[in-house]
Amino acid sequence: MAPARLKVFGWGREDEGMTAEEEAFALDVHSRRFGTADFPSIATPTLADIHLRPPRIAPPSALKRICSTETYDRAAHAHGKGFTDAVRALLNDFDSAPDVVAYPTNEQDIAAVMDWAGSVGAALIPFGGGSSVVGGVTPPTDAPAAITVDLKQLDKVLEIDRSSRAARIQAGVFGPALENQLRPHRLTLRHFPQSFEFSTLGGWIATRSGGHFATLYTQIDDFVESLRVVTPAGTLQSRRLPGSGAGPSPDRMFIGSEGILGVITEAWMRLQDRPRFRAGGAVRFMDFFTAARALRLLSQAGLYPANCRILDAEEAFNTGAGDGSVAIMVLAFESADHPLDAWMARALECCADHGGVPEGAGRTDAHREGAAGQWRNAFIRMPYGRERMTPRGIISDTFETAITWDRFETFHDQVKAAAEQAIRDATGRPGQVTCRFTHVYPDGPAPYFSFHALGRHGALIEQWQTIKTAASDAVIAGGGTITHHHAVGRDHRPWYDRQRPDLFAAALTAAKRALDPRGILNPGVLIDP
Ligand SMILES: Cc1cc2nc3c(=O)[nH]c(=O)nc-3n(C[C@H](O)[C@H](O)[C@H](O)COP(=O)(O)OP(=O)(O)OC[C@H]3O[C@@H](n4cnc5c(N)ncnc54)[C@H](O)[C@@H]3O)c2cc1C
Repeated sequence: MAPARLKVFGWGREDEGMTAEEEAFALDVHSRRFGTADFPSIATPTLADIHLRPPRIAPPSALKRICSTETYDRAAHAHGKGFTDAVRALLNDFDSAPDVVAYPTNEQDIAAVMDWAGSVGAALIPFGGGSSVVGGVTPPTDAPAAITVDLKQLDKVLEIDRSSRAARIQAGVFGPALENQLRPHRLTLRHFPQSFEFSTLGGWIATRSGGHFATLYTQIDDFVESLRVVTPAGTLQSRRLPGSGAGPSPDRMFIGSEGILGVITEAWMRLQDRPRFRAGGAVRFMDFFTAARALRLLSQAGLYPANCRILDAEEAFNTGAGDGSVAIMVLAFESADHPLDAWMARALECCADHGGVPEGAGRTDAHREGAAGQWRNAFIRMPYGRERMTPRGIISDTFETAITWDRFETFHDQVKAAAEQAIRDATGRPGQVTCRFTHVYPDGPAPYFSFHALGRHGALIEQWQTIKTAASDAVIAGGGTITHHHAVGRDHRPWYDRQRPDLFAAALTAAKRALDPRGILNPGVLIDP
Protein backbone atom coordinates (compact mmCIF):
# COMPACT_ATOMS: atom_id res chain seq x y z
CA MET A 1 0.00 0.00 0.00
CA ALA A 2 1.33 3.47 -0.88
CA PRO A 3 2.22 5.54 2.20
CA ALA A 4 -0.11 8.44 3.09
CA ARG A 5 0.65 11.87 1.58
CA LEU A 6 2.81 14.38 3.41
CA LYS A 7 0.79 16.91 5.39
CA VAL A 8 0.17 20.41 4.09
CA PHE A 9 0.09 21.65 7.71
CA GLY A 10 2.41 19.89 10.12
CA TRP A 11 5.12 17.26 10.25
CA GLY A 12 5.13 13.91 8.51
CA ARG A 13 2.32 12.05 6.78
CA GLU A 14 -1.40 12.67 6.97
CA ASP A 15 -1.98 9.58 9.16
CA GLU A 16 0.68 10.49 11.72
CA GLY A 17 0.82 12.83 14.71
CA MET A 18 1.23 13.21 18.45
CA THR A 19 -0.46 10.58 20.57
CA ALA A 20 -2.99 11.75 23.20
CA GLU A 21 -0.42 10.96 25.90
CA GLU A 22 2.30 13.01 24.21
CA GLU A 23 -0.09 15.93 23.77
CA ALA A 24 -1.16 15.78 27.43
CA PHE A 25 2.51 15.71 28.53
CA ALA A 26 3.35 18.75 26.36
CA LEU A 27 0.32 20.69 27.60
CA ASP A 28 1.19 19.88 31.20
CA VAL A 29 4.74 21.25 30.70
CA HIS A 30 3.33 24.41 29.05
CA SER A 31 0.75 24.89 31.83
CA ARG A 32 3.45 24.78 34.53
CA ARG A 33 5.63 27.09 32.46
CA PHE A 34 3.01 29.75 31.77
CA GLY A 35 0.92 29.33 34.92
CA THR A 36 -2.27 28.72 32.97
CA ALA A 37 -4.05 25.81 31.36
CA ASP A 38 -6.18 28.09 29.22
CA PHE A 39 -4.89 27.95 25.64
CA PRO A 40 -7.60 29.31 23.30
CA SER A 41 -7.37 27.28 20.11
CA ILE A 42 -8.11 28.12 16.48
CA ALA A 43 -9.01 25.58 13.80
CA THR A 44 -6.52 24.36 11.23
CA PRO A 45 -7.67 24.81 7.62
CA THR A 46 -8.33 21.66 5.64
CA LEU A 47 -7.42 21.29 1.97
CA ALA A 48 -11.01 22.20 1.02
CA ASP A 49 -10.62 25.56 2.83
CA ILE A 50 -7.54 26.53 0.79
CA HIS A 51 -8.23 28.75 -2.22
CA LEU A 52 -5.20 29.52 -4.36
CA ARG A 53 -4.75 32.23 -6.96
CA PRO A 54 -5.09 30.68 -10.46
CA PRO A 55 -1.69 29.70 -11.88
CA ARG A 56 -0.08 32.58 -13.78
CA ILE A 57 1.73 30.27 -16.18
CA ALA A 58 0.88 26.97 -17.87
CA PRO A 59 3.44 24.26 -18.56
CA PRO A 60 4.39 23.80 -22.22
CA SER A 61 3.00 20.59 -23.68
CA ALA A 62 6.35 18.76 -23.49
CA LEU A 63 6.42 19.29 -19.71
CA LYS A 64 2.77 18.63 -18.85
CA ARG A 65 3.66 14.98 -18.07
CA ILE A 66 5.74 16.00 -15.02
CA CYS A 67 3.87 19.14 -13.89
CA SER A 68 0.95 19.64 -11.53
CA THR A 69 -1.24 22.65 -10.76
CA GLU A 70 -3.46 20.71 -8.29
CA THR A 71 -4.30 22.49 -5.05
CA TYR A 72 -2.67 19.80 -2.89
CA ASP A 73 0.62 19.98 -4.80
CA ARG A 74 0.77 23.76 -4.81
CA ALA A 75 -0.30 24.16 -1.16
CA ALA A 76 2.15 21.47 0.01
CA HIS A 77 5.00 23.45 -1.61
CA ALA A 78 3.96 26.91 -0.37
CA HIS A 79 5.82 26.72 2.93
CA GLY A 80 8.66 24.99 4.72
CA LYS A 81 8.44 23.73 8.32
CA GLY A 82 9.50 26.76 10.35
CA PHE A 83 7.35 28.48 13.00
CA THR A 84 6.19 31.27 10.71
CA ASP A 85 5.38 28.69 8.01
CA ALA A 86 3.08 26.98 10.52
CA VAL A 87 1.38 30.26 11.45
CA ARG A 88 0.84 31.27 7.82
CA ALA A 89 -0.64 27.87 6.98
CA LEU A 90 -2.82 28.07 10.10
CA LEU A 91 -4.10 31.46 8.95
CA ASN A 92 -4.86 29.99 5.53
CA ASP A 93 -2.20 32.23 3.97
CA PHE A 94 -1.00 30.37 0.86
CA ASP A 95 -0.02 33.44 -1.18
CA SER A 96 3.44 31.91 -1.61
CA ALA A 97 2.12 28.77 -3.34
CA PRO A 98 4.03 28.10 -6.57
CA ASP A 99 2.06 28.32 -9.81
CA VAL A 100 3.30 24.92 -10.92
CA VAL A 101 5.03 22.00 -9.23
CA ALA A 102 7.30 19.91 -11.46
CA TYR A 103 8.30 16.34 -10.55
CA PRO A 104 11.23 15.63 -12.92
CA THR A 105 12.23 12.03 -13.56
CA ASN A 106 15.66 12.77 -15.03
CA GLU A 107 18.18 15.56 -15.65
CA GLN A 108 16.73 16.36 -19.08
CA ASP A 109 13.43 17.19 -17.38
CA ILE A 110 15.23 19.53 -14.97
CA ALA A 111 17.11 21.29 -17.78
CA ALA A 112 13.84 21.68 -19.72
CA VAL A 113 12.04 23.19 -16.69
CA MET A 114 14.97 25.59 -16.23
CA ASP A 115 14.70 26.68 -19.86
CA TRP A 116 10.97 27.21 -19.47
CA ALA A 117 11.39 29.15 -16.19
CA GLY A 118 14.02 31.36 -17.83
CA SER A 119 11.81 32.05 -20.83
CA VAL A 120 8.82 33.17 -18.71
CA GLY A 121 10.85 34.88 -15.96
CA ALA A 122 9.63 32.48 -13.27
CA ALA A 123 11.52 31.81 -10.04
CA LEU A 124 12.57 28.17 -9.79
CA ILE A 125 12.70 26.64 -6.32
CA PRO A 126 14.57 23.34 -5.85
CA PHE A 127 12.66 21.22 -3.31
CA GLY A 128 13.74 18.07 -1.48
CA GLY A 129 11.64 17.19 1.56
CA GLY A 130 10.58 20.78 2.22
CA SER A 131 11.82 20.56 5.82
CA SER A 132 13.59 23.92 5.61
CA VAL A 133 13.03 26.00 8.75
CA VAL A 134 14.58 29.17 7.28
CA GLY A 135 12.29 30.03 4.37
CA GLY A 136 14.55 28.13 1.94
CA VAL A 137 11.71 26.60 -0.12
CA THR A 138 9.17 29.41 0.13
CA PRO A 139 8.56 30.86 -3.34
CA PRO A 140 9.01 34.65 -3.31
CA THR A 141 5.65 36.42 -3.65
CA ASP A 142 7.15 39.27 -5.71
CA ALA A 143 8.34 37.04 -8.61
CA PRO A 144 6.24 37.16 -11.82
CA ALA A 145 5.60 33.42 -11.35
CA ALA A 146 7.10 30.49 -9.44
CA ILE A 147 7.85 26.87 -10.30
CA THR A 148 8.86 24.44 -7.59
CA VAL A 149 10.99 21.51 -8.73
CA ASP A 150 10.34 18.59 -6.37
CA LEU A 151 13.03 15.93 -6.72
CA LYS A 152 11.23 13.05 -5.04
CA GLN A 153 11.20 10.89 -8.21
CA LEU A 154 15.00 10.81 -8.16
CA ASP A 155 15.15 8.38 -5.25
CA LYS A 156 17.54 5.56 -6.15
CA VAL A 157 20.93 4.32 -5.09
CA LEU A 158 22.37 3.85 -8.57
CA GLU A 159 25.72 2.21 -7.97
CA ILE A 160 27.78 0.87 -5.09
CA ASP A 161 31.57 0.71 -4.97
CA ARG A 162 32.14 -1.75 -2.11
CA SER A 163 35.92 -1.54 -2.18
CA SER A 164 35.97 2.25 -1.79
CA ARG A 165 32.85 2.09 0.40
CA ALA A 166 30.95 4.69 -1.61
CA ALA A 167 27.68 4.90 -3.52
CA ARG A 168 26.22 6.98 -6.34
CA ILE A 169 22.89 8.23 -5.05
CA GLN A 170 20.11 10.36 -6.53
CA ALA A 171 19.43 13.60 -4.70
CA GLY A 172 15.70 13.23 -4.09
CA VAL A 173 15.91 10.13 -1.91
CA PHE A 174 14.49 10.48 1.61
CA GLY A 175 16.53 9.27 4.59
CA PRO A 176 14.73 5.97 5.30
CA ALA A 177 14.57 4.95 1.60
CA LEU A 178 18.29 5.66 1.30
CA GLU A 179 19.20 3.53 4.31
CA ASN A 180 16.85 0.73 3.13
CA GLN A 181 18.73 0.55 -0.15
CA LEU A 182 22.13 0.50 1.57
CA ARG A 183 21.20 -2.05 4.25
CA PRO A 184 21.47 -5.21 2.06
CA HIS A 185 25.06 -4.17 1.37
CA ARG A 186 25.69 -3.81 5.14
CA LEU A 187 26.48 -0.14 4.54
CA THR A 188 25.13 3.11 5.95
CA LEU A 189 25.55 6.82 5.25
CA ARG A 190 25.22 7.29 9.01
CA HIS A 191 23.80 10.79 8.61
CA PHE A 192 20.74 11.28 10.76
CA PRO A 193 19.41 14.84 11.08
CA GLN A 194 16.36 15.07 13.32
CA SER A 195 14.38 15.59 10.11
CA PHE A 196 15.86 12.36 8.62
CA GLU A 197 12.49 10.76 7.78
CA PHE A 198 11.21 13.69 5.73
CA SER A 199 14.30 15.26 4.19
CA THR A 200 16.50 14.25 1.26
CA LEU A 201 20.12 13.74 0.33
CA GLY A 202 20.02 16.73 -2.04
CA GLY A 203 18.52 18.92 0.68
CA TRP A 204 21.18 17.81 3.16
CA ILE A 205 23.97 18.66 0.72
CA ALA A 206 22.37 21.95 -0.34
CA THR A 207 22.04 23.07 3.30
CA ARG A 208 25.20 21.52 4.83
CA SER A 209 23.01 19.62 7.23
CA GLY A 210 24.22 18.32 10.56
CA GLY A 211 23.50 14.70 11.39
CA HIS A 212 22.95 13.58 14.91
CA PHE A 213 26.21 11.89 15.38
CA ALA A 214 27.69 14.62 17.41
CA THR A 215 31.44 14.48 16.92
CA LEU A 216 33.93 13.89 14.11
CA TYR A 217 31.72 13.56 10.97
CA THR A 218 28.86 15.83 11.93
CA GLN A 219 28.02 17.72 8.76
CA ILE A 220 27.22 16.20 5.37
CA ASP A 221 30.27 17.95 3.88
CA ASP A 222 32.67 15.18 4.88
CA PHE A 223 30.63 12.44 3.20
CA VAL A 224 30.47 14.02 -0.26
CA GLU A 225 32.95 12.40 -2.66
CA SER A 226 31.65 14.04 -5.84
CA LEU A 227 28.56 15.83 -7.17
CA ARG A 228 26.45 16.22 -10.30
CA VAL A 229 24.64 19.52 -10.68
CA VAL A 230 22.27 20.79 -13.38
CA THR A 231 22.52 24.57 -13.77
CA PRO A 232 20.85 26.91 -16.26
CA ALA A 233 24.31 27.22 -17.91
CA GLY A 234 24.81 23.45 -18.25
CA THR A 235 25.53 20.31 -16.22
CA LEU A 236 28.71 19.72 -14.27
CA GLN A 237 30.18 16.76 -12.48
CA SER A 238 33.14 16.75 -10.14
CA ARG A 239 35.74 13.98 -10.14
CA ARG A 240 35.49 11.11 -7.61
CA LEU A 241 38.50 11.38 -5.35
CA PRO A 242 39.26 10.43 -1.74
CA GLY A 243 41.01 13.78 -1.35
CA SER A 244 42.45 16.43 -3.60
CA GLY A 245 44.61 19.52 -3.34
CA ALA A 246 43.77 20.74 -6.82
CA GLY A 247 42.62 24.27 -6.11
CA PRO A 248 39.36 25.32 -4.44
CA SER A 249 36.95 22.36 -4.31
CA PRO A 250 34.05 22.41 -6.80
CA ASP A 251 32.06 20.23 -4.36
CA ARG A 252 32.52 22.77 -1.57
CA MET A 253 31.07 25.47 -3.80
CA PHE A 254 27.80 23.56 -4.17
CA ILE A 255 27.64 22.12 -0.64
CA GLY A 256 25.57 24.73 1.18
CA SER A 257 24.54 26.58 -2.00
CA GLU A 258 20.84 26.25 -0.98
CA GLY A 259 19.52 25.91 -4.52
CA ILE A 260 20.86 29.24 -5.85
CA LEU A 261 23.56 27.81 -8.14
CA GLY A 262 21.95 24.69 -9.55
CA VAL A 263 19.98 21.55 -8.82
CA ILE A 264 22.08 18.78 -7.30
CA THR A 265 20.88 15.61 -9.04
CA GLU A 266 23.22 12.97 -7.68
CA ALA A 267 26.27 12.49 -5.52
CA TRP A 268 28.86 9.86 -4.81
CA MET A 269 28.75 9.58 -1.03
CA ARG A 270 31.31 8.06 1.36
CA LEU A 271 29.68 5.29 3.39
CA GLN A 272 30.47 3.32 6.49
CA ASP A 273 30.03 -0.28 7.57
CA ARG A 274 26.98 -0.75 9.72
CA PRO A 275 27.95 -0.65 13.40
CA ARG A 276 27.90 -3.90 15.40
CA PHE A 277 29.35 -2.72 18.70
CA ARG A 278 27.80 -0.08 20.90
CA ALA A 279 28.35 1.40 24.33
CA GLY A 280 26.58 4.29 25.95
CA GLY A 281 24.45 5.76 28.69
CA ALA A 282 23.64 8.97 30.51
CA VAL A 283 25.66 10.95 33.03
CA ARG A 284 24.24 13.47 35.54
CA PHE A 285 26.02 16.75 36.37
CA MET A 286 25.28 19.42 38.96
CA ASP A 287 24.82 22.07 36.23
CA PHE A 288 25.15 22.76 32.52
CA PHE A 289 28.51 24.52 32.58
CA THR A 290 30.09 21.72 34.63
CA ALA A 291 28.77 19.24 32.06
CA ALA A 292 30.18 21.46 29.29
CA ARG A 293 33.62 21.45 30.91
CA ALA A 294 33.57 17.66 31.08
CA LEU A 295 32.50 17.53 27.46
CA ARG A 296 35.34 19.80 26.40
CA LEU A 297 37.79 17.41 28.07
CA LEU A 298 36.13 14.49 26.33
CA SER A 299 36.08 16.14 22.92
CA GLN A 300 39.76 16.97 23.18
CA ALA A 301 40.73 13.46 24.33
CA GLY A 302 40.40 12.00 20.83
CA LEU A 303 37.67 9.56 21.86
CA TYR A 304 35.10 10.81 19.31
CA PRO A 305 31.87 9.45 20.76
CA ALA A 306 29.17 8.94 18.11
CA ASN A 307 26.78 10.82 20.31
CA CYS A 308 27.58 13.19 23.11
CA ARG A 309 25.12 15.91 23.81
CA ILE A 310 24.36 17.72 27.02
CA LEU A 311 20.98 19.03 28.12
CA ASP A 312 20.59 21.79 30.65
CA ALA A 313 18.38 20.91 33.62
CA GLU A 314 15.23 22.53 32.15
CA GLU A 315 15.72 20.94 28.74
CA ALA A 316 16.18 17.57 30.44
CA PHE A 317 12.96 18.12 32.38
CA ASN A 318 11.00 19.23 29.31
CA THR A 319 11.89 16.02 27.47
CA GLY A 320 11.32 13.73 30.45
CA ALA A 321 15.03 12.87 30.61
CA GLY A 322 15.61 14.55 33.99
CA ASP A 323 13.82 15.90 37.06
CA GLY A 324 14.88 19.51 36.46
CA SER A 325 17.60 19.55 39.12
CA VAL A 326 20.56 18.25 37.12
CA ALA A 327 22.12 18.58 33.66
CA ILE A 328 22.33 15.37 31.64
CA MET A 329 24.98 14.14 29.23
CA VAL A 330 23.89 11.52 26.71
CA LEU A 331 26.84 9.51 25.53
CA ALA A 332 27.24 6.73 22.94
CA PHE A 333 30.03 5.03 21.05
CA GLU A 334 29.63 2.72 18.07
CA SER A 335 31.85 0.75 15.74
CA ALA A 336 31.65 -1.92 13.06
CA ASP A 337 35.05 -3.17 14.09
CA HIS A 338 35.76 -3.27 17.80
CA PRO A 339 34.11 -3.37 21.24
CA LEU A 340 33.88 0.05 22.88
CA ASP A 341 33.77 -0.56 26.60
CA ALA A 342 37.29 0.86 27.01
CA TRP A 343 36.26 4.08 25.20
CA MET A 344 33.14 4.41 27.34
CA ALA A 345 35.09 3.72 30.52
CA ARG A 346 37.62 6.44 29.65
CA ALA A 347 34.81 8.88 28.82
CA LEU A 348 33.22 8.20 32.21
CA GLU A 349 36.58 8.98 33.84
CA CYS A 350 36.61 12.37 32.07
CA CYS A 351 33.08 12.96 33.36
CA ALA A 352 34.00 11.86 36.89
CA ASP A 353 36.76 14.50 36.92
CA HIS A 354 33.91 17.04 36.81
CA GLY A 355 31.61 15.25 39.23
CA GLY A 356 29.62 13.44 36.53
CA VAL A 357 27.64 10.51 37.94
CA PRO A 358 26.69 7.79 35.44
CA GLU A 359 23.24 6.27 35.49
CA GLY A 360 23.07 2.51 35.97
CA ALA A 361 26.28 2.38 38.05
CA GLY A 362 28.52 2.94 35.03
CA ARG A 363 27.06 0.21 32.83
CA THR A 364 28.27 0.78 29.30
CA ASP A 365 25.27 -0.62 27.41
CA ALA A 366 22.52 1.78 28.51
CA HIS A 367 22.32 4.05 25.47
CA ARG A 368 18.65 3.21 24.83
CA GLU A 369 17.55 3.07 28.46
CA GLY A 370 16.89 5.54 31.26
CA ALA A 371 17.54 9.22 30.55
CA ALA A 372 19.39 8.41 27.28
CA GLY A 373 16.45 6.37 25.94
CA GLN A 374 13.90 8.93 27.15
CA TRP A 375 15.81 11.72 25.44
CA ARG A 376 16.11 9.69 22.21
CA ASN A 377 12.34 9.06 22.05
CA ALA A 378 11.48 12.68 22.82
CA PHE A 379 13.94 13.84 20.17
CA ILE A 380 12.34 11.68 17.46
CA ARG A 381 8.75 12.64 18.41
CA MET A 382 9.37 16.36 19.10
CA PRO A 383 8.64 17.67 15.56
CA TYR A 384 5.00 16.54 15.78
CA GLY A 385 4.35 19.05 18.58
CA ARG A 386 4.18 22.24 16.52
CA GLU A 387 0.95 21.46 14.64
CA ARG A 388 -0.83 20.91 17.99
CA MET A 389 0.68 23.79 19.96
CA THR A 390 0.68 26.63 17.39
CA PRO A 391 -3.15 26.58 17.07
CA ARG A 392 -3.17 27.11 20.88
CA GLY A 393 -1.06 30.26 20.53
CA ILE A 394 2.09 28.67 21.93
CA ILE A 395 5.32 29.90 20.35
CA SER A 396 7.93 27.15 20.54
CA ASP A 397 10.97 27.29 18.35
CA THR A 398 14.71 26.72 18.34
CA PHE A 399 17.85 28.47 17.14
CA GLU A 400 21.31 27.00 16.91
CA THR A 401 24.84 28.24 16.60
CA ALA A 402 28.49 27.36 17.29
CA ILE A 403 31.14 29.17 19.32
CA THR A 404 34.69 28.44 20.44
CA TRP A 405 35.19 27.12 23.99
CA ASP A 406 36.98 30.25 25.21
CA ARG A 407 33.84 32.34 24.66
CA PHE A 408 31.14 29.76 25.32
CA GLU A 409 30.01 30.54 28.89
CA THR A 410 29.70 34.32 28.48
CA PHE A 411 28.11 33.81 25.07
CA HIS A 412 25.55 31.37 26.47
CA ASP A 413 24.52 33.72 29.26
CA GLN A 414 24.22 36.74 26.97
CA VAL A 415 22.20 34.94 24.30
CA LYS A 416 19.87 33.32 26.84
CA ALA A 417 19.33 36.63 28.65
CA ALA A 418 18.59 38.44 25.35
CA ALA A 419 16.05 35.81 24.30
CA GLU A 420 14.38 35.78 27.73
CA GLN A 421 14.09 39.57 27.74
CA ALA A 422 12.67 39.52 24.21
CA ILE A 423 10.00 37.01 25.27
CA ARG A 424 8.93 39.37 28.06
CA ASP A 425 8.96 42.35 25.67
CA ALA A 426 6.99 40.50 23.01
CA THR A 427 4.39 38.74 25.13
CA GLY A 428 4.29 40.69 28.39
CA ARG A 429 5.14 37.64 30.47
CA PRO A 430 8.13 35.36 31.09
CA GLY A 431 8.70 32.32 28.92
CA GLN A 432 11.49 29.83 28.89
CA VAL A 433 14.83 29.48 27.07
CA THR A 434 16.74 26.21 27.40
CA CYS A 435 19.99 24.97 25.89
CA ARG A 436 21.58 21.75 24.78
CA PHE A 437 24.62 20.89 22.66
CA THR A 438 23.84 19.13 19.43
CA HIS A 439 27.42 18.82 18.20
CA VAL A 440 30.80 19.16 19.84
CA TYR A 441 34.20 19.86 18.34
CA PRO A 442 37.63 19.97 19.97
CA ASP A 443 37.58 23.78 19.57
CA GLY A 444 33.98 24.43 20.61
CA PRO A 445 30.36 23.32 20.93
CA ALA A 446 27.23 23.88 18.86
CA PRO A 447 24.72 25.22 21.42
CA TYR A 448 21.07 24.71 20.44
CA PHE A 449 18.52 26.90 22.20
CA SER A 450 14.78 26.18 22.51
CA PHE A 451 12.38 28.94 23.46
CA HIS A 452 8.77 28.87 24.58
CA ALA A 453 6.44 31.84 24.87
CA LEU A 454 2.71 32.24 25.28
CA GLY A 455 1.70 34.24 22.24
CA ARG A 456 -1.49 35.88 21.10
CA HIS A 457 -3.44 34.93 18.00
CA GLY A 458 -3.22 37.75 15.48
CA ALA A 459 0.27 38.70 16.69
CA LEU A 460 2.15 35.40 16.63
CA ILE A 461 4.47 36.22 13.73
CA GLU A 462 5.37 39.68 15.12
CA GLN A 463 5.97 38.22 18.59
CA TRP A 464 8.14 35.43 17.17
CA GLN A 465 10.07 37.97 15.06
CA THR A 466 10.87 40.10 18.12
CA ILE A 467 12.31 37.08 19.92
CA LYS A 468 14.14 35.74 16.86
CA THR A 469 15.68 39.14 16.10
CA ALA A 470 16.94 39.67 19.64
CA ALA A 471 18.39 36.17 19.83
CA SER A 472 20.05 36.42 16.40
CA ASP A 473 21.49 39.86 17.22
CA ALA A 474 22.98 38.43 20.41
CA VAL A 475 24.43 35.43 18.58
CA ILE A 476 26.17 37.62 16.01
CA ALA A 477 27.31 40.21 18.59
CA GLY A 478 28.78 37.40 20.71
CA GLY A 479 30.85 36.05 17.81
CA GLY A 480 28.77 32.95 16.98
CA THR A 481 27.42 31.78 13.64
CA ILE A 482 23.83 32.54 12.66
CA THR A 483 23.42 28.84 11.94
CA HIS A 484 25.37 25.69 12.63
CA HIS A 485 23.09 23.41 10.57
CA HIS A 486 19.68 24.97 9.87
CA ALA A 487 21.02 26.93 6.85
CA VAL A 488 20.53 30.57 5.86
CA GLY A 489 17.51 30.57 3.56
CA ARG A 490 15.60 33.83 3.56
CA ASP A 491 15.03 34.13 7.32
CA HIS A 492 18.70 34.30 8.35
CA ARG A 493 19.75 36.71 5.61
CA PRO A 494 20.14 39.88 7.74
CA TRP A 495 22.55 38.14 10.13
CA TYR A 496 24.32 36.06 7.48
CA ASP A 497 25.00 39.33 5.65
CA ARG A 498 26.76 40.62 8.78
CA GLN A 499 28.66 37.37 9.33
CA ARG A 500 30.14 36.71 5.87
CA PRO A 501 32.84 38.96 4.38
CA ASP A 502 31.51 41.40 1.75
CA LEU A 503 34.11 40.31 -0.78
CA PHE A 504 32.91 36.74 -0.41
CA ALA A 505 29.36 37.86 -1.21
CA ALA A 506 30.69 39.57 -4.33
CA ALA A 507 32.50 36.37 -5.40
CA LEU A 508 29.37 34.27 -4.76
CA THR A 509 27.27 36.71 -6.77
CA ALA A 510 29.72 36.42 -9.66
CA ALA A 511 29.57 32.61 -9.48
CA LYS A 512 25.77 32.77 -9.53
CA ARG A 513 25.83 35.06 -12.55
CA ALA A 514 28.00 32.53 -14.43
CA LEU A 515 25.77 29.56 -13.59
CA ASP A 516 22.36 31.22 -13.47
CA PRO A 517 22.61 34.28 -15.75
CA ARG A 518 18.86 35.04 -15.58
CA GLY A 519 18.77 34.76 -11.80
CA ILE A 520 15.88 32.28 -11.70
CA LEU A 521 17.19 29.95 -8.99
CA ASN A 522 15.78 30.53 -5.49
CA PRO A 523 15.98 34.36 -5.56
CA GLY A 524 16.55 35.99 -2.19
CA VAL A 525 18.33 33.01 -0.62
CA LEU A 526 21.96 33.61 0.50
CA ILE A 527 22.47 36.72 -1.68
CA ASP A 528 20.34 39.44 -3.22
CA PRO A 529 18.49 38.44 -6.40
C1 LIG B 1 11.73 19.02 12.77
C2 LIG B 1 12.97 19.43 12.04
C3 LIG B 1 14.20 18.96 12.47
C4 LIG B 1 15.35 19.34 11.79
N1 LIG B 1 16.54 18.82 12.20
C5 LIG B 1 17.67 19.11 11.52
C6 LIG B 1 18.91 18.53 11.89
O1 LIG B 1 18.98 17.75 12.81
N2 LIG B 1 20.00 18.85 11.18
C7 LIG B 1 19.93 19.70 10.11
O2 LIG B 1 20.93 19.93 9.48
N3 LIG B 1 18.77 20.28 9.75
C8 LIG B 1 17.64 19.99 10.41
N4 LIG B 1 16.45 20.55 10.02
C9 LIG B 1 16.42 21.46 8.86
C10 LIG B 1 16.22 20.71 7.52
O3 LIG B 1 15.68 19.43 7.74
C11 LIG B 1 17.54 20.60 6.78
O4 LIG B 1 17.91 21.87 6.31
C12 LIG B 1 17.53 19.60 5.61
O5 LIG B 1 18.84 19.42 5.16
C13 LIG B 1 16.65 20.03 4.46
O6 LIG B 1 16.49 18.92 3.59
P1 LIG B 1 15.22 18.85 2.62
O7 LIG B 1 15.42 17.69 1.72
O8 LIG B 1 13.98 18.86 3.40
O9 LIG B 1 15.43 20.18 1.80
P2 LIG B 1 14.37 21.32 1.48
O10 LIG B 1 13.80 21.84 2.74
O11 LIG B 1 13.45 20.84 0.45
O12 LIG B 1 15.35 22.41 0.86
C14 LIG B 1 16.29 23.09 1.66
C15 LIG B 1 17.12 24.02 0.76
O13 LIG B 1 17.91 23.25 -0.12
C16 LIG B 1 17.53 23.50 -1.48
N5 LIG B 1 17.53 22.19 -2.14
C17 LIG B 1 16.83 21.09 -1.80
N6 LIG B 1 17.15 20.07 -2.60
C18 LIG B 1 18.08 20.54 -3.48
C19 LIG B 1 18.79 19.96 -4.57
N7 LIG B 1 18.67 18.69 -4.91
N8 LIG B 1 19.65 20.75 -5.26
C20 LIG B 1 19.82 22.05 -4.94
N9 LIG B 1 19.16 22.64 -3.92
C21 LIG B 1 18.31 21.89 -3.19
C22 LIG B 1 16.18 24.18 -1.42
O14 LIG B 1 15.98 25.04 -2.51
C23 LIG B 1 16.28 24.92 -0.10
O15 LIG B 1 16.98 26.14 -0.25
C24 LIG B 1 15.28 20.20 10.68
C25 LIG B 1 14.03 20.66 10.25
C26 LIG B 1 12.90 20.28 10.92
C27 LIG B 1 11.56 20.77 10.44
